[in-house]
Formats: sequence, C-alpha cells, structure tokens
Amino acid sequence: MDFLLSEEQKALQKKAREFAIREVLPVARKYDESEEFPLPVIKKAWEENLLNLGIPKQYGGPGFGLVNSCIVVEEISSACPGIATSIFDNNLGAEPIVIGGNEEQKQRILSELVNEFKLIAFATSEPTMGSDVAGMKCKAEKDGDEYILNGNKFWITNGGYADYITVFATVDPEKKHKGIAAFIVDTKYEGVKLGKHIPKLGQRSSNTVSIGLKDVRIPKENVLAKPGRGFVLGMQTFAHTRPAIGAFAVGCARSAMEYSIDYAQKRETFGRPIGNYQVIQEKIANMYKDIEAARLLTYKAAWEADQGMDNNLSSAIAKAFASDVAMNVTTEAVQIFGGYGYLRTYPVEKLFRDAKLYQIYEGTSEIQRIVISRFVMKRYEHAMPYLGKKRT
Ligand SMILES: Cc1cc2nc3c(=O)[nH]c(=O)nc-3n(C[C@H](O)[C@H](O)[C@H](O)COP(=O)(O)OP(=O)(O)OC[C@H]3O[C@@H](n4cnc5c(N)ncnc54)[C@H](O)[C@@H]3O)c2cc1C
Repeated sequence: MDFLLSEEQKALQKKAREFAIREVLPVARKYDESEEFPLPVIKKAWEENLLNLGIPKQYGGPGFGLVNSCIVVEEISSACPGIATSIFDNNLGAEPIVIGGNEEQKQRILSELVNEFKLIAFATSEPTMGSDVAGMKCKAEKDGDEYILNGNKFWITNGGYADYITVFATVDPEKKHKGIAAFIVDTKYEGVKLGKHIPKLGQRSSNTVSIGLKDVRIPKENVLAKPGRGFVLGMQTFAHTRPAIGAFAVGCARSAMEYSIDYAQKRETFGRPIGNYQVIQEKIANMYKDIEAARLLTYKAAWEADQGMDNNLSSAIAKAFASDVAMNVTTEAVQIFGGYGYLRTYPVEKLFRDAKLYQIYEGTSEIQRIVISRFVMKRYEHAMPYLGKKRT
C-alpha cells in the first residue's frame, strides 16, 4: 500500500494549485456576488488543459484517471466551489459518452470538446424528480431510426451555456428504469429551450437552469443508450463522478480549515489568541482528521475506478462522508470566526453556503446511505461467526 503521490501527481497538483490561486481565488467573491457565469475562467482552464480531464488521449484529452482528476478538483474547489462545479461539469456531461458512446460518437463529440471550447451538461433531473431517476417523465418517442424528445429537465448545471447536453428520457414512464434511454442533444436543435439562471443559496457562480424539450428530433447517430441501457449508463456515470464530489468537498473543507487556523492564531479574547483555548484546538483537530479521512475515502473510490473495479459502493461512501465533512467543517469555521463568520467580509460565510450543495446533487446524502445500507444489510460478509444460524 502506497499513500504517496507520484512525482507526476505532485506536478499536477502544483499546476492546479497555481491555476486556482492565480485564476480562481481572485474572482471567487466577484462571481458569487454577481451570480455571473465564470466563462473567462472556464476558458482559461480549457486553455491550460484542466477542462475535460477524463477524456481519453486518443480523442485529444489528458486521459487522466480518477485519482489524478480528484487531485486537480480538490485544488480548484479550494479556491471556489462554485467555479469548480462550473469547470468540472464538462466531466459529468462527457462521462456517459466516455463510458457508453460508440467510436463515431467519441471521435466526433469528445474530440470537439477538447479541440474547441465547448461545454457539455448532464440531465437526468426533472421538476418532479431528482432522487428517483427511474421515475422520470421526459418522453422519448421512437420515429424510425430517430427519437423525438418532449419534456422538461431541471437544475441543469451549465445548461444555459452548454453546446451539448446528455439527456436521459424514457420511452414509457410505466417501464421505470427499463424504459430509460440516453441522447446527445445539440442545444442548437429546434425545440430546445434553455431556461434562465435560477438563483441559489451557494455555488452562485455555477449556472443552474431548466431545459425545455419540445418535439426535439434526435438523429440516429446521437442515440447514446437504447431504452433500458440508459439507466445503467446513468448509474455508471455517477459511480465515476461521485469521487470528484468527494474531492470538491475536501477542497472546500480544507480552505475553511485553513482560514480557521489563521483566524484562531490572530483573534484575541480575554487577552489570548482564541487558538490557545482547548475548545478551539479541538475544533481544528477534528477538521484536520475528518478532511484526511474524507480525502483517503475519495482517493480509494477513485483508485478502484482506475483499476476497473466496480466502485459503486466506495463512491457512495466517499461522497456521503466528504459532503458531511464539508458541511461540518464550514459550520465550525463560521463558529470560530464568531460574528465575523456570519458576515460577507470573510470567505467562510461563502464556503458554508457552497458546502451544502455536496449533500444534495449527484445523489443526496440519504440516497448514498441507501446504496451503502443495501450492501451492508444484504452482501456484507461477516468476519465473526453468526449469532445462531445465518439467515438465508
Ligand atoms: C445546484 C444544483 C445543481 C444540479 N445539477 C444537476 C445537473 O447538472 N443535472 C441533473 O440531472 N441534476 C442536477 N441537480 C439535481 C440534483 O441531482 C437533485 O436535486 C437531487 O438528486 C435530489 O433530487 P430532488 O431535488 O428532486 O429531491 P427529492 O428526490 O425530491 O428528495 C427530497 C428529500 O427526500 C430525500 N429522499 C428521497 N428519496 C428518499 C428515500 N427513498 N429514502 C430516504 N430519503 C429520500 C432526499 O434525500 C431529500 O432529502 C442539481 C441540483 C442542484 C441543487
């Protein structure tokens, strides 16, 4: 077992950290306040090969595995979780094509994403469903070799600026997961309506919109997954993107901890820096240990995917754990800052708002626990003898 980063990974971390400090940190507050989409920063990330991390080398991408991607994500997120979500949404949008696309689709779309500055979003959620993916209503009707899409998608990250969206839709809502197919939708297609930015609690620089689909004709070459295969493709995509949510959360928590250390050493009460008090030291110790654990779980989930293993369970554990850590650490950071923590003057207020999203998108914390408990209750092999007879 080797817990050390390789020289190549250290160089990648350095590059991402320098980018985060130079390009992201100085504008984080500005984009949060204006709720503007940080297009120039995303373009810079594309120019520096930090967008489209998971696109394989044969299509022109950096071809990073998930561990390397997580190293980059943590750095960018530590500067601004909202801008990080905007930058790495291309990974989420492209992943279904990386996993399930045919060679022609990969050559055409993935190469375009790398060679031109193009954005791709991902859409399963709808106004009436997010967690219950099999309950989607957006309709895909077969018409010869083509499909016609009708329905609405909601909460679509980068949707207002996307050139493409991987859209999941059903041939028959009654068929639940067996009816779901997936499509590559060019947002220039007739009938695609990109909604206006929806204001949010945190991660305000990330663009969130609804997508209307009215009689949108999808040519045969843009059918990504046939009915029945779409649901599996969606779940496989999440297993590959949830470790990155762990890395987002670790980056967000790490910055909240760093600001807390700094503040605790400077702020004085009763004639001493608050960092001298054991109660504050305990808070900071807990932050550090939880961030370490969250990062290790994140790397494990990413490493399993890189080994070609089924990482559905480990990615659920990493996402649930790291999201809770980000929420707890940012809450404690606000507490350490006292009244100033509640003001917009210091960055911990923003990180606190930003952290909440990790417990919600790409499968809520409750849904991750369903995945985990399903394994523990049904498939976990006990090490010790059973109490009495094993239930079969
Ligand atoms: C800022 C933002 C960006 C997003 N970006 C995207 C995107 O790019 N693409 C996309 O497709 N979606 C996106 N989403 C949608 C997101 O994935 C969903 O919001 C999320 O999956 C939860 O779905 P929901 O909001 O419908 O909540 P619901 O599914 O209605 O859940 C409500 C509550 O009930 C809980 N719950 C639900 N079912 C169960 C159960 N069986 N057992 C116990 N508890 C349960 C949930 O955990 C939650 O606490 C985004 C959301 C946000 C807020």
